[in-house]
Amino acid sequence: MKKILPFTMVALLAMPTLAQKSGKPLLRPRLVVGIVVDQMRYDYLYRYWSKYPAGGFRRLLGEGFSYESCHYNYVPTYTGPGHASVYTGTTPAVHGIIGNNWWVREEGRETYVTEDKTVQPVGGALAAGQMSPRHLLSTTITDELRLATNFQAKTIGVSMKDRGSILPAGHAANAAYWYDGTNGAFVSSTFYQAALPEWVARFNAAGHAAAYLAQPWNTLLPIGEYTESSADDVPWEAAFKGETNPVFPHDLPTLSAGAPAAVTPALKNSGETKAVPAPTQNLDLIRSTPFGNSLTTDFALETLRQEQMGQRGITDFLALSYSCTDYVGHQFGPNSIEAEDTYLRLDRELARLFDALDKQVGKGQALVFLTADHAAAHAVGFAQAHRLPSGGVGPSVIRDSVQHALVRQYGAGQWVLSYENQQVYLNRPLLKKKNIDLGKAQQDVAAALLTLPGVTQALTALDLQRAHWSEGLGMYQENGFYAPRSGDVLTVLAPGWLEAYAFPVVKGTTHGSSGAYDTHVPLLFWGWGVKRGQSSAAVRIVDIAPTLAQFLHIQEPSGCSGVPLREVLGR
Ligand code: ZN
Ligand code: ZN
Repeated sequence: MKKILPFTMVALLAMPTLAQKSGKPLLRPRLVVGIVVDQMRYDYLYRYWSKYPAGGFRRLLGEGFSYESCHYNYVPTYTGPGHASVYTGTTPAVHGIIGNNWWVREEGRETYVTEDKTVQPVGGALAAGQMSPRHLLSTTITDELRLATNFQAKTIGVSMKDRGSILPAGHAANAAYWYDGTNGAFVSSTFYQAALPEWVARFNAAGHAAAYLAQPWNTLLPIGEYTESSADDVPWEAAFKGETNPVFPHDLPTLSAGAPAAVTPALKNSGETKAVPAPTQNLDLIRSTPFGNSLTTDFALETLRQEQMGQRGITDFLALSYSCTDYVGHQFGPNSIEAEDTYLRLDRELARLFDALDKQVGKGQALVFLTADHAAAHAVGFAQAHRLPSGGVGPSVIRDSVQHALVRQYGAGQWVLSYENQQVYLNRPLLKKKNIDLGKAQQDVAAALLTLPGVTQALTALDLQRAHWSEGLGMYQENGFYAPRSGDVLTVLAPGWLEAYAFPVVKGTTHGSSGAYDTHVPLLFWGWGVKRGQSSAAVRIVDIAPTLAQFLHIQEPSGCSGVPLREVLGR
């Protein structure tokens, strides 16, 4: 007997799919590789151009598509929010990652962006391992690929920094790995898996980090050729601990000798406490050298090989983030020989990665994008030495000034609970107890902030919730503001000004503002389906995820507010 199908089912079976209509199968790349370079300014692409050989940045630019004017569209421009925004296609106002740390009002304590006390470390120390993407409120493009393939696509995050791995890998990731300096290992948490795969344990046991630190850090090219950078010995660079001056060669074997100051006990995945083997070397030092990026490539290539990524007949996603550029940038500043050397070496690492993709996945078979989680300001000392507008103001100076101003107005009491991410968190229960209107208190804080050097604006949380800005400083603040986690008053510093201590001289630099030096980052696409070319169109970091969704024919992330970039799509 012939089975009678209900009408709707017949209709569905009869309906040709898009692929059948065009006579072609659905095409997707074998692999997507997302590369986030921590603290990479847009101008590094061209500043060191003459010293990049053909295989790294030049290959991306020559064979791929470059958006020359890609900017962040919120503050603060920090690592956690940056990685979250690239992968969710939206801003902190929606994905909730408002900083690397923030004050939790209900608990009266600070939390860390990927902190999760409900999970246990896998392969590393307790402090390094209780991590997950639980604070992230939106799905990521990696989550959406997992959903679109009914969880058959593999998505894995790799970075030295936990937040550079965990946030991009998303909630539904197969794994995320990050570096634990106490044992020099790539570790994970029980959020992903109960134990490290055997190949990861083997990689860790090989002692790569110690081997990299066994040689001094010398410049890749003769030091006299670093004409794009300041002299080696300048007062605004911070020397390594144990070094007299911040100059080459940096004697890593001596500087890394001896155990780090504090080693937290490891808690293995089973929950039983086991001692980490006592380290005889400070393996955390590798973060502040270009060799941490080499170690990251080593581990990424091993991940591709061992997990057969891009070779399984389905699209996989490797979310890779190079963190050491940020540590080096903070310590030495963008105009240092150390920063230049780190980018010249990163360029070689990219060439190594692209070669491996050619061999393992096939030429043109992987879709690659490269961007940064934020850029960076010039070092204050450097800027001032060249008469450029710049300055430093200490965050504790700001916090204490506001606290004292409120004591003068309202009497004794701990009125300021915290100052983080350029935001003042007020003691709301105390204000309520003393019958002081929250809106008035926020206005009083704003007035106090505006008397401080370097502060040009102060927006209150109530202002931000009542008004809408489509451009300018207000837009950056509004996009970075998520009421349940953000502070009561948000500070804006003058261009070139940083939160830093100025005595006797500000060492190194930072990022976090809406200045172009912090928001302008590279955005390069290369490989499968990518049109060759470049565009000077003003695009936003939140446009990356919906563009990837178009390449892959999948849903954009749940909180997505960006739009697909059509020029790169090649169709
Ligand atoms: Zn960063
Ligand atoms: Zn940083």
